[in-house]
Amino acid sequence: MYAIQVNQTGGPEVLEYVEVPAPTPTEDQVLVDVIVAGVNYIDTYYREGIYNAATPFVLGLEGTGRVVHDPKGEIAEGTMVAWDHAFGSYAEQVCVSRDRIVAVPDDFPPEVAGSMLLQGMTAHYLANGVYQLGEGASCLITAGAGGVGLILTQMAKALGATVYTVVSTDEKEQLSYEAGADQVFRYGEGLAEQVRRFNGGRGVDVVYDGVGKDTFNESLEVVRPRGTVALFGAASGPVPPMDPQLLNKHGSIFLTRPSLGAWTAQEGEFQMRAQAVVQAVTDGDVTFNVTASYPLEDAAQAHRDMHARKTTGSIVLRVREDN
Ligand code: NDP
Repeated sequence: MYAIQVNQTGGPEVLEYVEVPAPTPTEDQVLVDVIVAGVNYIDTYYREGIYNAATPFVLGLEGTGRVVHDPKGEIAEGTMVAWDHAFGSYAEQVCVSRDRIVAVPDDFPPEVAGSMLLQGMTAHYLANGVYQLGEGASCLITAGAGGVGLILTQMAKALGATVYTVVSTDEKEQLSYEAGADQVFRYGEGLAEQVRRFNGGRGVDVVYDGVGKDTFNESLEVVRPRGTVALFGAASGPVPPMDPQLLNKHGSIFLTRPSLGAWTAQEGEFQMRAQAVVQAVTDGDVTFNVTASYPLEDAAQAHRDMHARKTTGSIVLRVREDN
């Protein structure tokens, strides 16, 4: 089978389209024919070696496709599924842990099914777990027109929160407003002050910061006393070590560095969040904006476009036609 393999970590050029042996599932896994693989910012951390994986490895964590073989015979061949956290998903076949799989209605667009879980469940735990949004709550979301950003904006609005976002271009501003943002801002010094002007100087209840290094200081400035800063990513680079005393200075604020792994680790939690995402898509409460799809062999181009901040919403790799 063909796959995108990394022999040595580095820039997008290390993503090689090569023939590799098909994987064999263990008793806890099922083998799947991949139709669409989701492309996520976290994939760039593995590619660059910021997150460790032994080389050579096949990249990718999520996707959609049809079950080819279940060693336990529980899931019928041909069943349409989506998954998250199956390392090696940029490939024609992948082994997926049976506890990271959700059934997908046959009429779901594969581009949506293949990119909805990682970003959708992240938005779900941020808005319903890390800080429970509701009527009267307010939040600031960085990279508001990105994959997680657009979904989180929609979920936050559906929960009744006031949503402020930050983006880098006019096009992204437009997309963020279409997703429901109340006010969209641009990066730079003074961001916190601008946001505060819109909520009576109070500061927001929670900041969802997936940009990291470039926005972290503004995130601390913009949150209200005893509010929460959820630093959930590092698209601009990791935040350097900091003095905990800063949390005191900003009014006893809470800082967390959450992960989807930890927020789907409890019994039944993956299924609960995955089903919530599938239901939200089915009911039309959340729309996934899949703005680019690349053939599997062009994975490097997808990564270049992400780094160049050219992408909006979710992006995917087309692996095979569904028959
Ligand atoms: P996005 O689609 O949001 O892409 C990243 C965006 O970050 C860009 O489009 C860009 O938007 C913004 N950005 C700001 N500065 C930079 C920079 N220097 N270089 C590149 N991009 C920059 O990606 P995802 O939705 O996949 O992920 C968003 C963040 O969430 C990532 O940091 C990711 O690691 C994190 N994440 C964390 C999870 C967790 O559980 N902790 C799970 C899933 C994702 P703009 O141009 O508007 O600034």
